[in-house]
Amino acid sequence: MESNLNLNIDYNISESEKANMPYRLRNITEMIIENRLIPHDDLYEILLDKNISLNDLCLSASLIRNEGKKNIVTFSPKIFVPLTQVCSDVCSYCTFREDPKSYDTIFLKEDYILDLAQKADLMGCKEVLFTLGERPERKFPIVKKWLKDHGYISTIEYLSSISELVASQTNLFPHGNPGTMTRNDMKRLKESNVSLGLMLENISDRLSEPGGPHEFAASKRPKARLKTIENAGKLQIPFTTGILVGIGETKIERLDSIFAIKKINENYGHIQELIIQNFRAKTDIPMKSHPEPHIQDFIWTIAATRIIMGTNANIQVPPNLNEGYYENFLSAGINDWGGISPLTIDYVNPEAPWPTIEQLNQKTTEKGFELKPRLPIYPEFIKSKNAQFKNSSLLSKKIDSSVDSKGFVNGGIFNYVKVKRPTIA
Ligand code: SF4
Repeated sequence: MESNLNLNIDYNISESEKANMPYRLRNITEMIIENRLIPHDDLYEILLDKNISLNDLCLSASLIRNEGKKNIVTFSPKIFVPLTQVCSDVCSYCTFREDPKSYDTIFLKEDYILDLAQKADLMGCKEVLFTLGERPERKFPIVKKWLKDHGYISTIEYLSSISELVASQTNLFPHGNPGTMTRNDMKRLKESNVSLGLMLENISDRLSEPGGPHEFAASKRPKARLKTIENAGKLQIPFTTGILVGIGETKIERLDSIFAIKKINENYGHIQELIIQNFRAKTDIPMKSHPEPHIQDFIWTIAATRIIMGTNANIQVPPNLNEGYYENFLSAGINDWGGISPLTIDYVNPEAPWPTIEQLNQKTTEKGFELKPRLPIYPEFIKSKNAQFKNSSLLSKKIDSSVDSKGFVNGGIFNYVKVKRPTIA
């Protein structure tokens, strides 16, 4: 991406900044803040209006975020565990997937994962992010054999079993990201995973056509992904989803994708966060010559997401893919940095190290925000009065002893960075 932008919107926004916004945008911003219904067509029109500057759009997004989230920005101290990188699909932008190399290296084993989780616990990590390839047993008989030899019928069943182990034997909380899931898969995973995730990527069927990035990835058909996201809603599982920006989609297809997520959330209320992730070109992928999204375009997408999703949504951009733009993302209305690991790499983007929590805290506080650690289930779901969001009793007890009265990690940022605690008078 190109050099830094001249976007400088702090948490504190002056009355004159608000007054200088174009009238129509200011009006729509106020309506969103007041939770009034706005026709979709009006939102499309204003978001695609070339006369509205990116700065004004970000101002609108910031005001909307500030209304719902105040000055709190969160992150999840985590470890990334790639349970298996073997995958039955092939996406043209992926470096994560592998064919099986040998019987013994298909899956990570219990002992390794428990040992890693115990080390992570000592460093204050709370989340075990299980990311894995899509149902590898469907394509590779050797994977099926490994699972059968170990008493499992599917990769998701193995994930459930490992999650139960981590949930019961460590202080960490599993969050599974195993690709598309059936209702039964999710019912079982809900017992040990405080939340689950699946990126929508994009709602466009066009991207699955010959030559598109999802041509050889049946699980990336939008219909299949929407079904998983919707079923998670029926099961009232706090759910993480999002879009991948810059893989050949149009701006309108991005907006359509965000609206599709919004619609499902209006029915079930289970979307706990929306990740806006940018495509990164890598030398070893079929899309190595595909241009990365322009930074302005990416920031427009983040601001548009906030404006569409409204005051209460949690909007996340992964910082490790975008060093140098942290303040711009805050200006565009995000309120979460996602998982940050002091112990493991990002196996999906191994070339991109996470910032330290110290660095993240500095960048966040410089703009007038307060950085708070959270669990892989957001505070509003922990505190939800809707009993259906309740986790198993094992998880509920662990959650209660890990969070403060507002649902953030006990002890806050002081567990992770050396900053002076405020003195209480
Ligand atoms: S992005 Fe996911 S589904 Fe696609 S190839 Fe990579 S691991 Fe498989």
